[in-house]
Amino acid sequence: MSRNGIHHVTAIAGQAQRNLDFYTRTLGLRLVKKTVNFDDPGAYHFYYGDEAGSPGTILTFFPWEHAAPGRAGAGELQETVLRIPQAAIGYWTARLVNHGLERATRFGETVLTFRDADGLRLALVGLPGIEAEPAWNNGDVPVEHAIRGFHSVSLMLDKTEATGAILSDVFGFAKVAREGDTIRYQVEGTAIGGIVDLRAVGGFLPARLGRGSVHHLAFRAADDAAEMEMVRKLAANHGLRTTEQKNRDYFRSVYFREPGHVLFEIATDIPGFDVDEPAEALGHALKLPAFLERHRTEIEAALPVLA
Ligand code: ZN
Repeated sequence: MSRNGIHHVTAIAGQAQRNLDFYTRTLGLRLVKKTVNFDDPGAYHFYYGDEAGSPGTILTFFPWEHAAPGRAGAGELQETVLRIPQAAIGYWTARLVNHGLERATRFGETVLTFRDADGLRLALVGLPGIEAEPAWNNGDVPVEHAIRGFHSVSLMLDKTEATGAILSDVFGFAKVAREGDTIRYQVEGTAIGGIVDLRAVGGFLPARLGRGSVHHLAFRAADDAAEMEMVRKLAANHGLRTTEQKNRDYFRSVYFREPGHVLFEIATDIPGFDVDEPAEALGHALKLPAFLERHRTEIEAALPVLA
């Protein structure tokens, strides 16, 4: 099994409680970590995923109560697509009818598009033969219908060539299909989070980051050595420098702005979300990194109260 593909997607939300309710109740994902933004501890950082918070299933949010709405445009991650069993399409159509649901066919697959309350673009793809895959089986959605990680993300870019070269050379993707102005890149052997679609929209206004926008897209690296090899390739073959490695407690990351202006991260698969609380209790307590633990009282007092 390949260890490449999407690790997580991080977006900007408005109200924390509304975000929590939508992703855990309506979409039935597991809250696998409740922490703060390590760079802005006045805001929560919520991580949603499958039961374990496996790489390729993790959707995360910075709820910034007063964030201005984002504006869609070139240079951003436009849509995040999640996998559901094909037989669950009817269930989800009924469940999301009040969330701007539309049905489409892309690359031969049935796609249900919708938005969260902050305007973030999401979609579900119904796939045959995935019913037996693990999912969060203690959530608000019956397990037979539950979401099973990322199918794909689509990036809207002025030009796609330089971004595509990085996907192929650094992250293990290959160009596999084209439909209209969208080119599909896929990692062979990665069922979950193995697809990135690049959509060329030359001349579009640039996107403006805000509520309902994706903040960054993270790709998987098995471990630190794999991550450093990707950093080396970015510099040697693409002239791009990353940040120094940052310890995010649940993974270790570097960041860089790719040529199409989307913020990319490389995140290690290790150590995972059970590093600071038991697997059965993921997401229950507010977890803080060691460097913020001595400020816990002030941090807790400043965060919005959650039901
Ligand atoms: Zn991230």
